[in-house]
Amino acid sequence: MERLSPISLQETCELREPKIIKVDSKELQKNKVVITSEETIKTQKIVSCGRPAIDENIIIVDPETALPCPPETVGEIWVSGASIAQGYWQDEDATEKAFNAYLPDNKKPFLRTGDLGFLHQGELFVTGRIKDIIIIRGRNYYPQDIETTVKNCHPALRDHSCVATSITSEEGEKLVIIGEIKRKLEQKINFQEIVNTIRSHVSRKHGIQTNKIVLVKQGSIPKTSSGKIQRLAGKKAYLENNISIIFQEDSSEKNTKESQEKTMSHSIELNKTQKRKDKKLSELISWLRNYANENINSRLIDERRCIPPHIVLDFGNQGLLGMQVPLEYGGLGLNNGETMNVMEQLGAIDTTLSLFVGLNNVLGIRPLLNFGSPSLREELLPRLATGRELAAFALTEPSAGSNPQAIASSAIPQSPEQWIINGTKIWSGSAAWAGIINVFVQEKDSQGNFQGISGFTVKRGTPGLKQGPEALTMGMRGMVQNTVYFNDVAVDASQKLGNTGEGMKVAQDAMMYGRLTIAAASVGGMKRCAQLWHRYSSRRQISTVRLLENPLVLARLNGLTAAITTIETLVTSITTWLDQGQEVPVEAYAVCKMAAPEFYWEAADNLVQFLGGRGYIESNMAPQILRDARILRIFEGPTETLTAFLGSRVIYQPESFKTFLCDTLSMPEIYERFEQTVQQIQDYRQSPFTEETKTKNWTAILCGEVAMWGVLLAVLEAKAMSSTSESLNRAIAWTKEHFQQKIAQGFAQTPDELVISSANKTTELISDYENAIGNLEQTLAGEDREVDEFLRLGDSETGRLGDWETGRLGDWETGRLGDWETRRNIENWLMNWLGEKLNLSPQNIDPKQAFADYGIDSVMAVELAQDLQEWLGYTQQLEASLAWNFPTIKSLAQYLSTIESEDEIVEEKFAMNDSKIALNGQSQGTSSTENPEIISDISNYSEDEIQTAINQEMAELESLLKGGYPS
Ligand SMILES: Cc1cc2nc3c(=O)[nH]c(=O)nc-3n(C[C@H](O)[C@H](O)[C@H](O)COP(=O)(O)OP(=O)(O)OC[C@H]3O[C@@H](n4cnc5c(N)ncnc54)[C@H](O)[C@@H]3O)c2cc1C
Repeated sequence: MERLSPISLQETCELREPKIIKVDSKELQKNKVVITSEETIKTQKIVSCGRPAIDENIIIVDPETALPCPPETVGEIWVSGASIAQGYWQDEDATEKAFNAYLPDNKKPFLRTGDLGFLHQGELFVTGRIKDIIIIRGRNYYPQDIETTVKNCHPALRDHSCVATSITSEEGEKLVIIGEIKRKLEQKINFQEIVNTIRSHVSRKHGIQTNKIVLVKQGSIPKTSSGKIQRLAGKKAYLENNISIIFQEDSSEKNTKESQEKTMSHSIELNKTQKRKDKKLSELISWLRNYANENINSRLIDERRCIPPHIVLDFGNQGLLGMQVPLEYGGLGLNNGETMNVMEQLGAIDTTLSLFVGLNNVLGIRPLLNFGSPSLREELLPRLATGRELAAFALTEPSAGSNPQAIASSAIPQSPEQWIINGTKIWSGSAAWAGIINVFVQEKDSQGNFQGISGFTVKRGTPGLKQGPEALTMGMRGMVQNTVYFNDVAVDASQKLGNTGEGMKVAQDAMMYGRLTIAAASVGGMKRCAQLWHRYSSRRQISTVRLLENPLVLARLNGLTAAITTIETLVTSITTWLDQGQEVPVEAYAVCKMAAPEFYWEAADNLVQFLGGRGYIESNMAPQILRDARILRIFEGPTETLTAFLGSRVIYQPESFKTFLCDTLSMPEIYERFEQTVQQIQDYRQSPFTEETKTKNWTAILCGEVAMWGVLLAVLEAKAMSSTSESLNRAIAWTKEHFQQKIAQGFAQTPDELVISSANKTTELISDYENAIGNLEQTLAGEDREVDEFLRLGDSETGRLGDWETGRLGDWETGRLGDWETRRNIENWLMNWLGEKLNLSPQNIDPKQAFADYGIDSVMAVELAQDLQEWLGYTQQLEASLAWNFPTIKSLAQYLSTIESEDEIVEEKFAMNDSKIALNGQSQGTSSTENPEIISDISNYSEDEIQTAINQEMAELESLLKGGYPS
């Protein structure tokens, strides 16, 4: 029987503007019609054939029982009416079956069309052909949907030249896909790769396994004269071996043929290993839970600002400090999924402890595992894996935080295989306790030319390595974060991480993975918040009802559960890809770090709020959780930096994001929605800024936020393709709403935008507050923490003072002004230069503000480089990109003050300035109040007067040193 196509069915219906509806695809597989207004990957558009004509009667019937289907159900389309033919020419049997179908009332005969469809609001919708439908494990799969997925998944496959069908085997129906390969690509492509791609796309999108994939020559699949594929003819040709096969793979055969034995023994081994590992993991998790209940007192850790030694030792003995270190080095050899399970558990127990363990494993050990030399690994991994030594990571510097490229520490070769490291790192976690520190520096050649950023592992006890003061952090109090000084620290080639110039690659690799780890720990932390919040609101009565019954509490608490499922799904998806050897794009890691800490922070804040006064009492844990959760939004890339990064990636280098959403997650619809939004934001949205750079930054932030929600939604939808659950559906609904709200926000002004002013106007505005509240800075001395100078080692003997910045003893001995003074002079010059260009007082220039924020464009950047070069007296040309590479006055000054090759010139320059240190309050060339005053002509003063001025200046500097870090 010829298929009654929608076109011919249309002829039995009134012609009108075609109506298109959207239905839930999963429900459709079960023959249910669930209409939705959404357009997502889980919905499907169906075009109406119109309303039946007046003289036609169309009914929907269960093809097996011949009974009418309930409304909104898919069934066979039966038609009766005057325009229906009498039957097939000279084929009574076929006529009887098709043209004389009756309902139980036996009133009139119907034509069985063989098509499936449904009626909705009186209109007919056709979903497919009964004979084509693929029924696997009770679900209906429409071949055209699978064919569309296959067609889009690989460029070597021809358009409209694929057949999805099924064959019957002993185990039931099996899916077979036959696809034509483009002729011109036949010789050039890897067929196995195409087959793998088809398999994974069909599995992700439709949740079924493809048993057989057959790649055939162009033109092999039979088609109608109008170019439509003939599925049944295609299937027949394949079954009868009548088709030109290039390559085929049968997943069941693959497992049973000659490789069977090998596969079997291998899989037995794998199973054994997996079982051992599962056992090890579950034992570890259960050990952690018992240990937490009996041996950890988080309050004490927090109050005493120290993790007790027994915890470090016990964690080390359990292997927690070297989770991914291979077994042969004494590690646990856990895979990614297992590691994140442990991180989640630790996050629930104590966020500080999870960060301590995460830092050691990820920022400390991972660079060694992935980039360390064999000798370094041999030497260090056994000690690190068992916690005999701890590992730290030192990237951040005073002028290089969210922009790590601006680091100024350097490594200069002493011989071909040895370097000398100098520099200062701040807030390095566990550094003061660590046996090794991974440090990232500018590597220079023997002429002082920059070679790129390189990483080195520096061992404790190396001369010149000095631990500086601990920062008193808001949270993470149990862990030490301290300054580290590198004063002529010698390292050799075996200590290098990766090659010259690969330092950022090494650091990024660790930080990307760190972002995943933070997300996993956040899941644990959020679950703990949910438990405590729920516990309190279940017990607390407010106005005769339990707090838990309150709609606001229920809404917020359920929002948290949706957030937990969302991040959990993201983490599990990433670890699954990693454990399968798939590459994970940077966008996915960025989303981990953007979303999880923000959700965790909200959970912690809600916990404090909904516990009422108890939320503010330290013994109830909520304040500690809040403090610990807060740092996650800042380190390892602050949320805003990553939002801007993600936004720029998706706007200017969208390929990786597109591949991630469309191919890895099979969610092209979400990508399309996102792509349209980005375009619309760029085209229509009024930026509150006039300068191009600012508009670009602003657009990147807006698009970054939309991209984050897009990724979260795509990950959840992809997961729903293979398995579904109530919590997953709730998380999808929650994320979808956020995604849509973010899109809408892209087109609306936020209240903050309405009041945006320039940096200068903002400074003026805030300066006025001084009239209202004054300028406050408490100076009342606290307890004396310094060792008396008569007792201090070194100082009393040498009479020298330590340098607060470098930790070096002795710079002051020479009477020469060190790095700090050089930098301050360069800063002053830059502030004056910028003030002059912008017609602003230098006091109003913030040395920590980006040049770009002051509107420096590429022309001004060239001018700046030339003027600087001239002022510094450099012979070597300064790059115009200087202002971008070192984006603030502080970072540029820091960099320039450490250019070794120009040392002499810089020193000469400042030697000149030194000689100009003045006696009176006037200044020359600088107007900063914190600067040494300068006079134009020192000949007016006696030598004694000049000496007195120098002494005064030195005394001032000394007092600054004691006071700590100048702002
Ligand atoms: C407790 C603690 C532990 C740490 N541990 C380590 C460690 O072990 N090793 C290590 O190397 N470092 C460590 N750090 C440093 C940490 O990584 C940095 O603090 C972080 O990268 C931010 O740098 P910054 O503090 O210099 O902030 P800045 O670079 O000054 O940025 C300030 C803020 O500006 C905003 N911002 C930045 N970029 C943008 C943008 N493009 N658009 C809009 N807004 C933006 C963000 O809100 C950001 O928080 C630690 C820090 C802390 C506080």
